[in-house]
Amino acid sequence: MSDQYTFTNPVDQYRTDGYPEKGIAAPGLETELDVRADHGASTYRGSGRLTGRKALITGADSGIGRAAAIAYAREGADVVLNYLPTEQSDAEDVAKLVEEAGRTAVLAPADLSVESEARALVHTAVEALGGLDAVVLVAGKQVWVDELADLTSEQFDQTFKTNVYSVFWVVQEAVPHLPAGATIITTSSIQAYSPAPGLVDYATTKAAINTISKALAQQLAPKGIRVNIVAPGPFWTPLQASGGQPPENLPEFGTETPIGRAGQPAELAGAYVFLASAESGYVIGETLNVNGGMPTP
Ligand code: NAD
Ligand code: MG
Repeated sequence: MSDQYTFTNPVDQYRTDGYPEKGIAAPGLETELDVRADHGASTYRGSGRLTGRKALITGADSGIGRAAAIAYAREGADVVLNYLPTEQSDAEDVAKLVEEAGRTAVLAPADLSVESEARALVHTAVEALGGLDAVVLVAGKQVWVDELADLTSEQFDQTFKTNVYSVFWVVQEAVPHLPAGATIITTSSIQAYSPAPGLVDYATTKAAINTISKALAQQLAPKGIRVNIVAPGPFWTPLQASGGQPPENLPEFGTETPIGRAGQPAELAGAYVFLASAESGYVIGETLNVNGGMPTP
């Protein structure tokens, strides 16, 4: 494939074999994956769709956020990359790709489950980029627990803080800085509609993300600030290999989709670019499902 516009059969465009049954420690690094994911580094071709934009991307070190960061830079945006401090090496790899695209990359580690850090991140971004007009919330926590009896209050709390409270904190802090035309994108999941039995806390946060985003979309639309949602299906990322799935599920990961395989982060880049770009100006409060064909409400 020469770039993302090359005519291709999506069924076998990427690995159809499933993935090794090897778990890694959370949050997981790209460099720890035995089968490396595609983030579009060698294929994503920009065409000026985000020229001059100033973006904050959370979870930008790896997986879906990494693919978004590469695409945003190649479309002409400067980006603040947020991640957890233990993911510094992954984040540095992304920063290098952003800079190779001729754009500014700002490394901004912060734990989004801590209110003060989530709020401070917005100010770091505004200062570093001289403003902010795209808030792309990709960071998330997913830990599979087989039995309800083993799901701790600590995990339940941490999943909600990371996935839901952080949306509230970052958006509330960002709005006073956002000009009309700015965009906010959150990241839900197929789990919001089809929860897996071992993802009780996680799936519930993803439904909450859909709802908080649709409420915010209505409130912010009159200000010219658009809120939209991307809802991925199964994508091969460190999140899945580091406890998001039981390791024994990994060989079959993604084969439940109509297309028959897991997605690669590169296949989500276009969704995040579209929703940030002015070309989607009349698209508000929408959930863009990118999931290999699984039906959604
Ligand atoms: P990933 O592991 O590459 O990215 C998740 C990122 O979340 C991590 O890199 C980390 O930087 C960040 N994160 C976790 N806890 C954090 C915290 N407390 N503070 C700051 N950052 C934190 O995995 P991914 O699959 O690319 O996940 C990105 C998003 O996509 C998540 O919201 C996830 O729920 C969502 N999603 C993923 C899939 C999938 O199959 N991979 C499916 C649906 C939705
Ligand atoms: Mg990571």
